Amino acid sequence: MTEEATATMQGAIIDGAAAARALREEIARRTAALAARGIVPGLSVVLVGEDPASAVYVRNKEKASREAGMRGETIRLAASTTQEELLAVVDRLNADPAVHGILVQMPLPAPLDADAVIHRIDPSKDVDGFHPVNVGKVLIGDSSGFAPCTPSGVLHLLRVSGVETRGAHAVIVGRSNIVGKPMAALLVQPGVDATVTLCHSRTRDLADHVRRADIVIAAVGRARLITAAMVKPGAVVIDVGMNRIEDATAKSGSGLVGDVDFDGVRDVASQITPVPGGVGPMTIAMLLRNTLTAAERTVA
Ligand code: NDP
Repeated sequence: MTEEATATMQGAIIDGAAAARALREEIARRTAALAARGIVPGLSVVLVGEDPASAVYVRNKEKASREAGMRGETIRLAASTTQEELLAVVDRLNADPAVHGILVQMPLPAPLDADAVIHRIDPSKDVDGFHPVNVGKVLIGDSSGFAPCTPSGVLHLLRVSGVETRGAHAVIVGRSNIVGKPMAALLVQPGVDATVTLCHSRTRDLADHVRRADIVIAAVGRARLITAAMVKPGAVVIDVGMNRIEDATAKSGSGLVGDVDFDGVRDVASQITPVPGGVGPMTIAMLLRNTLTAAERTVA
């Protein structure tokens, strides 16, 4: 197909909600099989303080784990919890054989030290994939580690959408430890075989880099930063961003948009994820998958 022909077609929408549903059904089946052998996967989520967005995320995680047949629990701690008290909770969960996955919801209220908490979680229960042991394992391609949920969700979406990553040029915008950097680590592994460019706020000529991408992954936190003029015709565009913007037409007065100008870019891309309904639903599905894997490993 010529570039002109591609440019006049609208890109196909990658349905993250459907992909997440299918994965969660498979996880529920495997969970039931494990439960039949006497092991019910357990996910413990720790929420410190009253941050309303965190409370919603935590509720969704507990609900999803229960729907999959797991033992989901949320441990709610006051914002005044001390570092020692929080570490003692992590120690207790580390020692509890019924707990296979531990997730401490971020951000933690000041002055709690998030790094110290992450370092304290037993790497074999670190289903968020943030412990340095897991970060290192992902980088060296050791599959006994846990990859962070959002980038592994993106990789899963690329796979189920039939996107060829081998030899493809993937341009990631955003270098956070939870999305951009682990995304780069996953994409360069043998078997995935992408060539990766990792961009950030100090990148010179961002548009020039993005325009060379076969696969664009935006994880920036800037509403509609990636425009059609920055995208090569036929590219696959994955939008991780979740930005709340004012929207007078919405009942709540606000709406959710990604880092990609969806309407414009859809006219150029071959495939594109929407926001919401793209990467977002995959993140929780991957959390369940990591928890199931952690539980399965206790009997392997
Ligand atoms: P961070 O704020 O930690 O990182 C943002 C990155 O974007 C940084 O590396 C920053 O560069 C870079 N950046 C900022 N502005 C620009 C710019 N103008 N041009 C190029 N790069 C820029 O964000 P996260 O990685 O945590 O999250 C990114 C987005 O993804 C957010 O919208 C977040 O809500 C969403 N998200 C969605 C999830 C999901 O489940 N769908 C899960 C996690 C995040 P620098 O390092 O130089 O500051």
